[in-house]
Amino acid sequence: AADMADPGECSIKVVCRFRPLNSAEVARGDKYIPKFIGDDCVQIAGKPYHFDRVFQSNTTQVQFYNAVALKIVKDVLEGYNGTIFAYGQTSSGKTHTMEGKLHDPEMMGIIPRIVQDIFNYIYSMDENSEFHIKVSYFEIYLDKIRDLLDVTKTNLSVHEDKNRVPFVKGCTERFVCSPDEVMDAIDEGKNNRHVAVTNMNEHSSRSHSIFLINIKQENTQTEQKLTGKLYLVDLAGSEKVGKTGAEGTVLDEAKMINKSLSSLGNVISALAEGSKSYVPYRDSKMTRILQDSLGGNCRTTMVICCSPSAFNDAETRSTLLFGQRAKTIKNTVSLNVELTAEQWKKKWEKEKEKNKTLRTTITWLETELNRWRKGESVPVEEQFDKEKAKAEVVSLDAALNNNDKAAPKPSLGSLPGVALTGPEKEKYEAEMAKLYKELDDKDDEINQQSQEVEKLKQQLLDQELLESSRSDHNTLQTELNRLLAENEASKEEVKEVLQALEELAVNYDQKSQEVEDKTKEFEALSEELNQKSSSLASIDSELQKLKEMTNHQKKRVTEMMSCLLKDLAEIGIAVGSNDMKKIQQESSGLIDEEFTVARLYISKMKAEVKTMVKRSKQLESSQAERSQKLEETESDLTACKLRVSQYEAKIKSLTDSLQNVEHKKRQLEENVDLLNDEIVRIRAEENAEKVNAMEKENEIQSANEVKEAVEKQIQSHREAHQKQISSLRDELDSKEKLITELQDSNQEIVLEQERLKVEHEKLKAADQEKSRQLQELTLLQDRREQARQDLKGLEETVARELQTLHSLRRLFVQDLSRRVRKNGQDMDDSETCAAQKQKISFLESNLEQLTKVHKQQLVRDNASLRCEIPKMEKRLRATATRVQALEAALKEAKESAAREKKRYEEEMERIKDTVKPKNMGRRASAVIDPVKPIRPGQLPGASP
Ligand code: ADP
Ligand code: MG
Repeated sequence: AADMADPGECSIKVVCRFRPLNSAEVARGDKYIPKFIGDDCVQIAGKPYHFDRVFQSNTTQVQFYNAVALKIVKDVLEGYNGTIFAYGQTSSGKTHTMEGKLHDPEMMGIIPRIVQDIFNYIYSMDENSEFHIKVSYFEIYLDKIRDLLDVTKTNLSVHEDKNRVPFVKGCTERFVCSPDEVMDAIDEGKNNRHVAVTNMNEHSSRSHSIFLINIKQENTQTEQKLTGKLYLVDLAGSEKVGKTGAEGTVLDEAKMINKSLSSLGNVISALAEGSKSYVPYRDSKMTRILQDSLGGNCRTTMVICCSPSAFNDAETRSTLLFGQRAKTIKNTVSLNVELTAEQWKKKWEKEKEKNKTLRTTITWLETELNRWRKGESVPVEEQFDKEKAKAEVVSLDAALNNNDKAAPKPSLGSLPGVALTGPEKEKYEAEMAKLYKELDDKDDEINQQSQEVEKLKQQLLDQELLESSRSDHNTLQTELNRLLAENEASKEEVKEVLQALEELAVNYDQKSQEVEDKTKEFEALSEELNQKSSSLASIDSELQKLKEMTNHQKKRVTEMMSCLLKDLAEIGIAVGSNDMKKIQQESSGLIDEEFTVARLYISKMKAEVKTMVKRSKQLESSQAERSQKLEETESDLTACKLRVSQYEAKIKSLTDSLQNVEHKKRQLEENVDLLNDEIVRIRAEENAEKVNAMEKENEIQSANEVKEAVEKQIQSHREAHQKQISSLRDELDSKEKLITELQDSNQEIVLEQERLKVEHEKLKAADQEKSRQLQELTLLQDRREQARQDLKGLEETVARELQTLHSLRRLFVQDLSRRVRKNGQDMDDSETCAAQKQKISFLESNLEQLTKVHKQQLVRDNASLRCEIPKMEKRLRATATRVQALEAALKEAKESAAREKKRYEEEMERIKDTVKPKNMGRRASAVIDPVKPIRPGQLPGASP
């Protein structure tokens, strides 16, 4: 323990500094709220706040430095610890106060000035002093200590040294030899800070920056060592970070930001209360580091920075209150001096002497006091005297020094105030050392762990990045796979398409081949066609030629014929010549031949016509038979149908009647029940009457008679009732019967009508058929008539021809005979005459023969036609009669249909008439319903 010298209590020095209104506030027209009273009081809204010093807005940096920091520099250089805090809301002037413009001589803050002054002081010291100055620069953000002189150290831990003074372990300590080196370090640190963060304004308002100057000086002559630590702290903005937080801060972060400041407030509050029992230094790293500065061995100055604007009114006031609280904190300051061995010895001797003197004084005073208490009066010479006591101590000393060897040294053990024996103390110290060692180890471990944690965090981040990239990769892979699959599918498709194309190509080849074949075929065919057409043309031409030829021949034939006729005429003219006769003979032979051929044809045609007629007759007869049969079967069928429908109708009506009967039966049963009830009631009444009568028997004899009469009346009543019921029932039955009958008849009529309709249809059809046949027959007749006329014409022509032939012959014979006579008169050529006669006779015979044949043929034809005529006439007659019959039948059918219709209508009318009253009757019967309930109070005998 080296800090034992000159202990002294002193409170924290708190000064207040107001900055001027900034341009924005001026522009806004903010009110300047502080009122300065003297140089240690500021009044806001009438409330005064007292501090060690209050600096108005116009205070220059030099003024402030001289008034506040200069003294501290001196203290630190004399071996004391010092701290300067700057507290206040953001933009209240903390950084301006601490740093200012670092390289501007006028605007620089206290840090550069301190640095400068330290060195100035050192330079002014005597040559026996040796100085070792090292600086550290770190910031605390979210309760993490970040080394600003080594960016790799992001989370440093706080340890305690053997004197239980906390310090940032592992923090870079830069040894500096000149103010420039210090300034370089500061610049470097500030630069690092800027590099590390994105938003410097926000970051600086949320973090504490701490600049530490450690000065060690050694007097080379006396070997006295003095150490002084100076903390220069630019605190985070005192304004609370709201729960909503500033941009980019989550709630946890906001808590952390508030934590160090609130724990500073708590520490200050605890210290201000005065009870040093528990101060929550350990709540945050900052309070741990500044533990010595707050309520410890340190001369501490707190600068309360304030905004003068009315706009920051609330924050300013809370800042001022904080400063006032801090003002009450008392620190115990001692010099940090390391004594040389000689100094220690002297000090020890001195202390021992002091101790001895005090002890003799005590014993003296005690004895004197005792004597006084005992009532003795102590003479003046025996009373306590400082000089005498000193002298006594010296003499005692000599005596003690002699017996010193055995006695233990009491003073050493009593130093901490607790009596500890030597070994105990040793043990205790060993324990302490061990514990500190352990603590150090733990701290080391913690540091390692935190570094590990940092690393792991980094790794985690990397991992996350990797993970995300992996997931990206996966998604990409799946996408790729999908695309590949698609690609594959499309490839497949393409393949298929290609295959199809190939097939198509093959098909196309085949088709084209086929087409070629076909075209070849077609060509061949067309060629053939051409050939054919050419041959056709040739054939046509040939045909034309032939036609022409035939025409020509015909012409020629006609010419020949005309020639022949001419020749014949010539022959006629040249009657006398033999040659001519011969020619005539030849020609007549030719005509004969032609006639025979024509006759043969005609006969053949006749035969054919006959056979045709016969066949047609046969067919007609068979058709008639068939139609007759068909008619018969149809009539059978309709009869059957009729019967079936009749039966059906009957069944229907029967079921209806059955239902009706059932219904009636039920009604009647109900009636019977009702009547039974009535009877029972009536009997009961009768009984009652009887009882009455019995009671009154003696009194009224004649009552019996009355009763009997009543009974009889009732009996008659009942009988009448019964009769009425039975008559009603009979009536009902008869009505029902009537209804069923009517229904049946109705059914029958309907059916009959249907049947008649069908018959009518059939007759109509038959009529049509017959008329058609008639037409056909008339047509046939006409044709026959035509044929007959034709035949007659033919006969006439033949006859005319024959006549002409006869006349010709006669003419020819006359001519011939005349010629012969002429010849006989002229030449008397008997020979030629005989030949001519022979020829004529031949011709005559020939002619006769021809005529005979012709006649015979004609007669035959005539005969056959004649026998045909009556047959035809007969058939015509038959058809006519048939048509007449059919017409009559049709007429009859129509009439009968009309009649039936009329009958049906009449029937219908009748039915309607009969049904109407029946319904009305029914309704009427409903009015006098026998099922009508009988209510009590309605006397049955009341209505006779
Ligand atoms: P803090 O560090 O508290 O957030 P700053 O020190 O950055 O505030 O001050 C904010 C602004 O006000 C700076 O531009 C600074 O120059 C100016 N300023 C602060 N105090 C004073 C003063 N006493 N005189 C002139 N300007 C000042
Ligand atoms: Mg600042």
